[in-house]
Amino acid sequence: MRKIGILGGSFDPVHNGHIGLARDAKEQLGLDEVLMIPAKFQPFKLDRKMVSGQQRLEMIELAVADMPGITACDYELRQEEISYTYKTLKAITEMEGPETEVYFLTGTDSILQIHRWKNADELLHNYNFVVGSRPGYKDDELSECIERLKRDYNTNITKVDNHQLNISSTEIRERLESGQGLSGLVPEVVERYIIKHGLYK
Ligand code: ATP
Ligand code: MG
Repeated sequence: MRKIGILGGSFDPVHNGHIGLARDAKEQLGLDEVLMIPAKFQPFKLDRKMVSGQQRLEMIELAVADMPGITACDYELRQEEISYTYKTLKAITEMEGPETEVYFLTGTDSILQIHRWKNADELLHNYNFVVGSRPGYKDDELSECIERLKRDYNTNITKVDNHQLNISSTEIRERLESGQGLSGLVPEVVERYIIKHGLYK
């Protein structure tokens, strides 16, 4: 069986926390590939202006260029409408065929909120989940949430022991808005891209 991981997000911009989660999950679960899929619009962030999908995708491409088995995927950007995660997972599962097992990767904050996602029932019943912890969230809350999802939805959900990187895109945007540097929060190629294109000013 081929195994692939899907990491969805706004990636506005991509940072080392995203990359760490993708790499650690890939290594620990023996995934053949991880697809990082930027959302066209984020249903919970419609009130906020995002950098264009194309630029968010390009930053991911630059970030993972030298990482075998981790790729940027423009599936959601190519859709007319918001592609909710359940739709994306369904489409990719179909495209990949029965010889591929699909794992959806998330950080703690996402899994704690997942009951609010479109068609959460279908998502949690039908797909494998891999959760990495994220500084600032309590680990016992995460464990409790995992037990609840297993019990209520019979979800196949595993925890990955990921490097703890206290980084968020929000913090990066705030630093750039106030003229601060990024000191290792994003890969250097991404920082150069942000500066070159004058993003997040
Ligand atoms: P924002 O601050 O704009 O919400 P973010 O840093 O949370 O951005 P997202 O694009 O919202 O990044 O996150 C995409 C996915 O990556 C989510 O599942 C999130 O939980 C996970 N993630 C983001 N940052 C980290 C991190 N530092 N460690 C582990 N997982 C992370
Ligand atoms: Mg977020």
